[in-house]
Amino acid sequence: MSRIIVDETYCKGCGLCVDACPEGIVELDQARINAKGYHPAVLVDEAKCTACSSCATMCPDMAITVWRS
Ligand code: SF4
Ligand code: SF4
Repeated sequence: MSRIIVDETYCKGCGLCVDACPEGIVELDQARINAKGYHPAVLVDEAKCTACSSCATMCPDMAITVWRS
């Protein structure tokens, strides 16, 4: 199953990946705050990820790794 991994160390909660995902399955986790003080991006429905890489391409901090399977 394809999925993404967000390295929260680099995430600044800008939301560009949220807007970039055509499946609408990336959200900012409002329940958590990372070490930088931001709500980190999170994949909310792994089953719908197509590994298109739009989110990773859009991320200015290269915080997203796409796993294709
Ligand atoms: S790889 Fe594509 S489908 Fe998967 S979370 Fe990123 S933008 Fe969405
Ligand atoms: S685009 Fe990158 S830095 Fe911005 S919210 Fe998504 S993972 Fe975090």
